[in-house]
Amino acid sequence: MDTYDFKNIESKWKKVWDETQLYRTDLTDAGKKLYCLVMFIYPSGDRLHIGHWYNYGPTDTWARFKKMQGYNVFEPIGYDAFGLPAENYAIKKGVHPAISTEANIQAIRNQLKEIGAMYDWSKEINTSDPEYYKWTQWLFLHLYKKGLAYKKEAPVNWCPSCKTVLANEQVVDGKCERCDTEVIQKDLEQWFFKITDYAEQLLEGLGRIEWPEKTVTMQRNWIGKSEGAWIKFKLDEHEEEIEVFTTRPDTLWGVTYMVLAPEHNLVKKITKPEYA
Ligand SMILES: [Zn+2]
Repeated sequence: MDTYDFKNIESKWKKVWDETQLYRTDLTDAGKKLYCLVMFIYPSGDRLHIGHWYNYGPTDTWARFKKMQGYNVFEPIGYDAFGLPAENYAIKKGVHPAISTEANIQAIRNQLKEIGAMYDWSKEINTSDPEYYKWTQWLFLHLYKKGLAYKKEAPVNWCPSCKTVLANEQVVDGKCERCDTEVIQKDLEQWFFKITDYAEQLLEGLGRIEWPEKTVTMQRNWIGKSEGAWIKFKLDEHEEEIEVFTTRPDTLWGVTYMVLAPEHNLVKKITKPEYA
């Protein structure tokens, strides 16, 4: 027979891999350790598509190569299972999201086993599992106690019909992608992490990783470290002041006018009735 009988050969060996737990990683082995982390899957649909293969195939090939070179490779897999897409899917199917997400994970897990990647299934995680998110909650509380998680009002995209905050990607032509309602800007209390306290460390760390320059630049912009001064401008006829951040306080002598963003909280307070 000159054709590759993949149905029989692959199912036979996958069964053996499963039974012998071939890809179970001994994390206590302190030898040549290699951690190969891929982006976890969003189980917001009931199956993976070919784009996932483009993502997971080459990474697994590389991890195998490293294993053959004698590395103790840990390649975990999991599901990033909370979020609006998962909710939308549940609404579309008319079932509870916990049920649809679990069913999607089941189907996706079978597909992932089909590609024969060397994931350590004994360490699979699901972010919507209380056994997992108790740790995100634990971490959050630590950040909160240290003053690194705080609340502040910020403008968000709000769908009045879904009564939910939308990411920019979920706003299509100014409308909610789920229900087509006009999206409004609304000031809501949001949680923030004070990453600015770590700007210096984050920037320093960027110098020690091999990433494409484009990605490093994106990270640097996201860290957003900027040195300058906060300056307060007094207003005529008002108690409030306009606070401005500038990296060039020495150029303030040239200021001829100031512009407030439409969502700035002072706009409503200081606009004269004839201009409102
Ligand atoms: Zn909506």
